[in-house]
Amino acid sequence: MQEDWYGTLCHTWCAKSRLIQMIVDRLGRRFRNLRVSLTAACNYACTYCVADGKRLMKAQNELPATDLLRGVELLIESAGIDKVRITGGEPLITPKFDDFLLGVMQLGLRDVSLTTNGQRLLAKQDVLIESGIRRLNVSLDTLNPLRFKQIARGGDLPTVLAGIEAMQAAGIRIKINMVPLRSKNLDDVLPLLDYCLERDIELRFIELMRMGHLLHGDQFPVDFVSMGTLLDLIAERYAFERTDAPYDSTAVRYEIPGAGHFGIIANESEPFCSACTRLRLSSDGYLYGCLSSARRQYVGDLFDLPRHEALPRLQSTLVSALADKKLAFQGEVTVMKLIGG
Ligand code: SAM
Repeated sequence: MQEDWYGTLCHTWCAKSRLIQMIVDRLGRRFRNLRVSLTAACNYACTYCVADGKRLMKAQNELPATDLLRGVELLIESAGIDKVRITGGEPLITPKFDDFLLGVMQLGLRDVSLTTNGQRLLAKQDVLIESGIRRLNVSLDTLNPLRFKQIARGGDLPTVLAGIEAMQAAGIRIKINMVPLRSKNLDDVLPLLDYCLERDIELRFIELMRMGHLLHGDQFPVDFVSMGTLLDLIAERYAFERTDAPYDSTAVRYEIPGAGHFGIIANESEPFCSACTRLRLSSDGYLYGCLSSARRQYVGDLFDLPRHEALPRLQSTLVSALADKKLAFQGEVTVMKLIGG
């Protein structure tokens, strides 16, 4: 073992039973969860993610599915990644989705999941079922069709709901992510919770994050809803108690006895940075060690190299990426819409 100011190098076994080195920092944080953004483009332009008048477009030089898959394979070995979440932009709109999904399911990972706005779940149901994926998260901020259009500025609600139903019918476990916004959908919190509890879906409330255009200006302070406010609102209808969540979970979890669970990703009220195990790979080949830092390292050029050359170079990049991890979320100008949260 070798130690210096940023962390410790130790060993573990990866999915393919190879002994691998992994980098651990002084807080015990190491990378285990990889989020891969397949494209920066999106078919929505949610008000809190995209500034007025803008659309999310593909990044320049986005990598093909084969390169991103090679990247995942190398990161399994160089970082000890055992969970992958496919995200975007919107992952279901890119033609590389099918190849990437089918490929990543073959890598022996402990868990593969997907975050989507759900608009193309029906269109992609065959490949989703064929892949064997067990769970996915659908982002849905309201059950009101008009309000849906005002927030998402793209897509339509009935198509998303039909997609959710089809996935559940196929035995795929669903979580719904909702971002409560004081000026737009606070009165959707209880209807969405009812909808989820009735269908055995876990609802995750995501506290609004100061990212992109929200970092400056009035929208964040107007729209931010804290965990305390949310819990007070839910308590008007349900009795609940805090329950266990995995060590590196971003969500605080609650049980409504006899009815189900919900969670809150409380970036501001109860930050989880000290247990963060996330690493992000963008569609154009950059690694991001922290959602609250714009610092990134280009690794797309390593994916063509033979393994013995790529692995040591990736490991030194991972040392920098781990050192980028902050102790608290401080807001960030660009990252979320490019690398999927
Ligand atoms: N298009 C996919 C989707 O809609 O799930 C994946 C990308 S989207 C950026 C991932 C998640 O980030 C969504 O649940 C979205 O609501 C959330 N998100 C985006 N901007 C956010 C912000 N400023 N604060 C909190 N959550 C945000």
